[in-house]
Amino acid sequence: MHSRTRRFAAATVTLGLLLAALGTTGPVMQAQGQVTSPEQFFGFQMGADRKLVRWDKAVEYYRLLEKQSGGKLKVVDVGPTEMGNPFLLVVITSPANQAKLEAIRQMNLTLSDPRGVPEAEIRRIVAEGKVVICQTMSMHASEVGGVNMAPELTYDLVSRTDEETRRILDNVVYLEIPSFNPDGAIMIHDYYMKYLGTEYEGGPLPWLYNKYIGHDNNRDALTMNMKDSQYVGRLMFVDWKPQAYVDHHHMGSYGARIFVPPYAEPIRPLADPQVWREMQWYGGHIAYKEEEAGLSGVSNTSQYSGWGHFGFHWITPFHNIAGMLTESASVRIATPLFIDPSQLQGGARGLETYKEQMNFPNPWPGGWWTLRGIVERQKVSAWATLDLAARNRETVLWNAYLKASRQTERGAKGKPAAYAMTARQHDPLTLNKLVNALLAQGIEVWQSPKGFAAPDGMTYPPGSFYVTLAQPKMGLIRHLLGETHYMDNEHTRRQDGTPIRPYDMGQDVLAEFMGIRADPLDEAVKADFVKVTAPITPAGTVAQAAPFGYIIDGRLNDAFRAANMLWDKGVALRRVSTAAGGLRPGDWIVPAGAGAALADAAKTTGVDFAALKAAVTAPTHEAKRLRVGMYRRYRGGNMDEGWTRWLFERWGFPFAEVYDAEIQKGNLNAKYDVFIFADDSTGMITGEPGGGRGEGRGGQSFASVPNTTPPEYRSGIGNDGVAAIRDFVQKGGTLVTLGGATDFAITRLGLPARNAVAGLDAKEFFCPGSTLRVRVDTAHPLGYGMPAEALVLFHYSPAFDVVATDVNDRNGIVVRYADRNVERSGWLNGERYIAGKTAMASMGLGQGRVVLIGFRTQNRAQTHGTYKFLFNALVSQPAR
Ligand SMILES: [Zn+2]
Repeated sequence: MHSRTRRFAAATVTLGLLLAALGTTGPVMQAQGQVTSPEQFFGFQMGADRKLVRWDKAVEYYRLLEKQSGGKLKVVDVGPTEMGNPFLLVVITSPANQAKLEAIRQMNLTLSDPRGVPEAEIRRIVAEGKVVICQTMSMHASEVGGVNMAPELTYDLVSRTDEETRRILDNVVYLEIPSFNPDGAIMIHDYYMKYLGTEYEGGPLPWLYNKYIGHDNNRDALTMNMKDSQYVGRLMFVDWKPQAYVDHHHMGSYGARIFVPPYAEPIRPLADPQVWREMQWYGGHIAYKEEEAGLSGVSNTSQYSGWGHFGFHWITPFHNIAGMLTESASVRIATPLFIDPSQLQGGARGLETYKEQMNFPNPWPGGWWTLRGIVERQKVSAWATLDLAARNRETVLWNAYLKASRQTERGAKGKPAAYAMTARQHDPLTLNKLVNALLAQGIEVWQSPKGFAAPDGMTYPPGSFYVTLAQPKMGLIRHLLGETHYMDNEHTRRQDGTPIRPYDMGQDVLAEFMGIRADPLDEAVKADFVKVTAPITPAGTVAQAAPFGYIIDGRLNDAFRAANMLWDKGVALRRVSTAAGGLRPGDWIVPAGAGAALADAAKTTGVDFAALKAAVTAPTHEAKRLRVGMYRRYRGGNMDEGWTRWLFERWGFPFAEVYDAEIQKGNLNAKYDVFIFADDSTGMITGEPGGGRGEGRGGQSFASVPNTTPPEYRSGIGNDGVAAIRDFVQKGGTLVTLGGATDFAITRLGLPARNAVAGLDAKEFFCPGSTLRVRVDTAHPLGYGMPAEALVLFHYSPAFDVVATDVNDRNGIVVRYADRNVERSGWLNGERYIAGKTAMASMGLGQGRVVLIGFRTQNRAQTHGTYKFLFNALVSQPAR
């Protein structure tokens, strides 16, 4: 199969050379011999068994191609990754297009937002413009196909001189991200090479394949916290707005060889319908080209539903970009995998059986599966995408105009017509962060300097924001700001009524995650709005004279950042314990005379240091920064731990990363006041075989066999670790457990609590990634600064019954689910099982306590609305 493919490619190249010799390829075409091939440069064919491209060598290769390409290729060093490696954009198009790239970009931006542009101008741009296509490689670094395919694809584009290639270069500006995760590409390469030839060859990386978040880097498209995400988001959502995007991934090993567009059911509503049709169009051409090249095992309209998470390929349709995905069957990094025909199976969404069918007409027969097989299929899919765009340039560009103008029209005519976000939020500084997140998505946001009134009579004070839906990204705005319910129909339940797990969460309402009120307005408002053109980073103020000291509003998340800056400078802080004299529990008291340290904190965080008008009469307590340790494990790493680590760094909380050996040594109280287990299964924490939700928790996308992990990385705290944690709490420590780790605390430390929704059949209770209504005890030190009614993110989370004991006073219920109407957004099936249950509790144990936070309090560093529950636990509390 592979050799046949190579012969086919060779024949195409020969034809190109022949045309060049006949002088029909134009004056700028380069003879093939002057371009160094990947084989020549790397010393092996891309995808060869047990060979991987290292990212630094790939960077060298693209720079070499830039020199040799005769002006067809430009390398842009976009900036450093989180670990300081170069993040590259490779721009490939004809030299003539390269010379007018900025003009092409401007034309493209006009098509993607044609508001107010005369149709004649649109038609001129469609005639003169170029299709812009973006493709990204190996965001999930263990899915090595993309990084190893791209050098060959790039080489073909700049060296081939046949008609098909020329048509692509003339009609398409191809924006290639040859690695969407350079840090991970290096880790995967080095780890693989280290164990090559040993019994651990091809095993999973024991830690996350980038600095913080591993597999969740895709989910970062929503708020773009990481540098890599910011680079690609800026490129696609603001600077270029391509017509199509393909993100190349891997999947499991035993089904189809490659999944290509379009997606399966269900699709997420509110995108322009044409964008889904485009994905069928591209996908049809890709699948056709795969068969033409003699490549078997290609499936589409299966496995990956059109309603996924808002990762890069799934959020792009709402940017009016045909946002697509390929998923290749994994090998063991670069080690071939033998698959017996009997081991091939269907069972996936839309691919129930492994047999010929409309969306899978040519099953792969089994045998040796290799990285080369992946590289070949991925390359054809990448090439076919460019080919279709090149053959249909005017249609694709006209579609871009249609999508943008029709979405704008829908937004103008539909209800709601706009969202208003009052400046009078519970935490106004977090409102700015939401606005900045919208700007990063290329969404237009307006602000009212004088305030405005909505037609329904609601008034909005000066500084309030307004987002009209009469703009091209209206579908995205609806999903980020408006209540959203996952569909409950035949596409989302099996015939017996069992809900089918959504690919990720049931919704992505960022405003709800961030605790921001966004009011849908039925009618548009006309007022003196000013367009917000740059991210908002307000400087806070410091009162001139403050003889009684200062106060920081405890409702602000940024108060914690300011507190950390002040603690760094040795300023002693207090917090209000009980409401009195206009002060709220959790408000921060800064002593008079701390003046010099305050200016910097105000400027950086945006918090105001207001003067206290009199000596504080409300009860206060010392607010000390506690010494924090957080469990860090191997077995693929823990993404939730990585997000938490990133969050703490950003908010200035010092902490230590603690591995098994340190825990097992015991005496944790000597170094830590608070110890954190991020969301995890009990089995993954303890290291018991079969006790966890599997290695997949860490985000490796292939089934891993535990014995492929070297002994030094087979982590788990074991019985000694459990004993040390119990000892820590009993001697006065605070143990904070998040999400699934609450089960570890309850079962291993014997807490009088149980998970009220454990073991329920999905037909009875099912709740994927939904925002649920809760009531907060704001007088409890862990609930300080929160509103009494809030939203939390529930993602297959536990909820608790606190069991009656003789010392119930030692247990505090901080957050409870609402008694009725619990779901705000998402999908809650079986409300009665969770209504009124405990969402967060503080449980006394010996001299210390265990904090159980069942919901996702800091999920993917997106749920700003519930950060305070975690942050409060890192600060000293009133004596009991
Ligand atoms: Zn992936």
